[in-house]
Amino acid sequence: MKRMDMQEQSSYDYMLTAEYASLVALEFNRNPVINDEAAFDIYPPPTAADRDSLPPRPPVVTIMGHVDHGKTTLLDTLRSSSVAKGEAGGITQHIGAFSVPVPNPGGEKRTITFLDTPGHAAFSAMRARGASVTDIVVLVVAADDGIMPQTKEVLELVKKDSNKVGLVVAINKVDKPGVDVSKIETALLAEGVQLETFGGDVPVVHVSGLTGQGLPTLVETISLVAEMQDLRAEQKGPIHGYVLESRVDKGLGPTATVLILRGQLTPGMGLISGLAHGKVRLLKSPAGESLKAVGPGTAALVSGWKELPKAGDEVLTGTDGEIKKALANRARKADLEATIQDAEAINESRRAERELVQSEAAGAPAAPTRATGTEKKELRLIVKGDVSGTVEAVCGAVVGIGNHIAGVKVVAQGVGEVSESDVMRAKAVEGMIVAFSVNIPRPVKAMAASQGVKILESNIIYALMDEVKKNVIDLLPTTT
Ligand code: GDP
Repeated sequence: MKRMDMQEQSSYDYMLTAEYASLVALEFNRNPVINDEAAFDIYPPPTAADRDSLPPRPPVVTIMGHVDHGKTTLLDTLRSSSVAKGEAGGITQHIGAFSVPVPNPGGEKRTITFLDTPGHAAFSAMRARGASVTDIVVLVVAADDGIMPQTKEVLELVKKDSNKVGLVVAINKVDKPGVDVSKIETALLAEGVQLETFGGDVPVVHVSGLTGQGLPTLVETISLVAEMQDLRAEQKGPIHGYVLESRVDKGLGPTATVLILRGQLTPGMGLISGLAHGKVRLLKSPAGESLKAVGPGTAALVSGWKELPKAGDEVLTGTDGEIKKALANRARKADLEATIQDAEAINESRRAERELVQSEAAGAPAAPTRATGTEKKELRLIVKGDVSGTVEAVCGAVVGIGNHIAGVKVVAQGVGEVSESDVMRAKAVEGMIVAFSVNIPRPVKAMAASQGVKILESNIIYALMDEVKKNVIDLLPTTT
């Protein structure tokens, strides 16, 4: 063939579809990257060029700390004090976030938004997706217990984000007799926390979540830190937000708590989040009141979804046409990613097979009893939780457990109580069920027992992680 012919041919013969190109790349052991820039999607609203002219927005705060140091108690006390007495019977619903007013006599109305999804794990899960929604972390340290492993983990997390995330230390349980607050402060200093007490810039507040002592000071301190961060955002226009939690409500259908970072959410707005979409029907506050609009730095329960969105996913708005087009593109991309994953898995098992054949040919000693071949051992889990935020958090926390010999694979996840089909599924994949803060009906428990399916049950994430770790360790080959 003449050179000219070849060139002519190449101009049209080698146009590959993204799908085909990805599979070819995989055949040659290259990792394909799907560059979605060119494809149409909905983009967040452009940031105003003149940021300083934007109105201020409330800070978004996450309370973190070691287990049992009092995070839940503190949040409960803050939440119940946020609802004026008599308003909706003074009862607040857990929707994943709530706002607390900051006393500001004579000044404009100010609030602080607290996230109450299980602190640490939810924060990590969102961060893993590149969504950094927290402006300020309140690190709770119990005065009677001091610095513990998870206290250090929180400090590490904050350090990574230190130019964006503000830190406030709350020394809790100061109502307990005989506690020595200064000992805790010195220990924090030794960890490198530059407390204000010692001339640094990290404020420290002494509180009791139980009695409410020090909470007004905590609120005020958070507000001051936020003021220094000078948080601003568009109060009007298209929204950019994140799903904190989602669940199917008997009356309202699929609902999601959406934290708005920019723009204003109003009833009737078209929404897209991951592969879910809808039109805002009702906006509700944690106190159950209907809202006409939700602005940046606040969260509300949103109904009107056609599908249940996932916690941690971005929420954007657009016209019906834009949303339809973006959904089609996202579905195509998801299909492509699934195809690539399957192909990668096939490649991986082929490689493992080859290695096994080679090592056997080389007369390698037989593999130890419980690890046959070079295949990585998997603890297969079906994760069930009470709300999607916790399910995401649990999955995020357990997948990191293990090493190159044995690890965790979440084969399915869902919201709601453990069902018989979960047991069947676990049995089919020779896995286990994780039940986080959900009920296991008696017949399902009986079925699991008769099928030999183990159920790991807990409502404490760290205890659950320990259980999972133990089961992963059990998969490791015995060394004799
Ligand atoms: P979390 O695991 O960090 O969410 O901790 P919890 O809020 O569940 O609290 C753990 C235990 O400490 C519970 O028994 C609480 O009643 C108790 N507790 C929490 N805050 C205080 C406090 O300020 N003072 C006292 N004395 N006990 C507290």
